[in-house]
Amino acid sequence: MTPDMMKAGDQRLETYRQRMAVVTPTSGDRSPTYGRLKTSDEVDTSHGAILYLEGVNKAFDGFKAINNLNISIDVGELRCIIGPNGAGKTTMMDIITGKTRPDTGTVFFGQTLDLTKLTEPQIAHAGIGRKFQKPTIFEHHTVFENLELAMKMDKRVWKSLFSAIDDDTRDKISDTLKRIRLDTQAERTAGLLSHGQKQWLEIGMLLMQEPKLLLLDEPVAGMTDDETERTGELFKSLAGEHSLVVVEHDMAFIEQLGGKVTVLHEGSVLAEGDLATVQNDQRVIEVYLGR
Ligand code: ADP
Ligand code: MG
Repeated sequence: MTPDMMKAGDQRLETYRQRMAVVTPTSGDRSPTYGRLKTSDEVDTSHGAILYLEGVNKAFDGFKAINNLNISIDVGELRCIIGPNGAGKTTMMDIITGKTRPDTGTVFFGQTLDLTKLTEPQIAHAGIGRKFQKPTIFEHHTVFENLELAMKMDKRVWKSLFSAIDDDTRDKISDTLKRIRLDTQAERTAGLLSHGQKQWLEIGMLLMQEPKLLLLDEPVAGMTDDETERTGELFKSLAGEHSLVVVEHDMAFIEQLGGKVTVLHEGSVLAEGDLATVQNDQRVIEVYLGR
């Protein structure tokens, strides 16, 4: 990576910088924490939950997009969220990541981090990674460089963009490349990857920042059947080490993931359980078949 390559003015670099901005102490905080980084290791999950939403409400111009929502995700869990269009799935993720503020309710990361009090970069920094539908990769850089950049944007490690990478970083990139099945594509320009490979690369970029919780909104939309299945394998391999919340419509994919399924409808939980149970729930059938 040369300085020349860097000055291309890719806006996404700025986005990453913002996402990874340093957590600064809140005003009035007299404790000697200035400059201390809040690492994801500080998330207190001693009670088993990584994410806890209770009584969350959010209205847009009087329309209740989220209506008394209660959801709890366990550490290491792989949770699927389904529900018809407009059910509030994306709004829920917006609330978790600080993009949207709830009107009322509790949103906690672990036992102690109140997400309604943190900014988007602080939430990302605390260990919540979000993947949007459209991949935000650096198209003109190689696959390897994309992972390198994701690492260098991570202010927890604060590596200079222009410094040579160390062996640990190289190993970490190499492990991530294998994990996302792009180890044979490391030197390829990211813009030339298939749609599915771009999605994996973005997941790899999130992984470089070692998130505790990954939020994935319709990750297999537009993928081939083969790519979808490989994505399922990837997510299953990530569960345990990470917690994952996956919003999807693809039932075969959800079945493959095999985790607990939460059905959202009109901003609330309609049903929760394994896929077969929720699919046989009369209220769920009514919602999906139309009233
Ligand atoms: P889903 O992802 O389940 O399809 P969304 O969370 O995107 O549903 O949307 C839930 C409802 O909230 C929809 O009716 C949508 O139009 C509305 N909504 C979401 N975001 C906004 C917003 N920023 N302003 C106004 N209405 C919104
Ligand atoms: Mg949505």
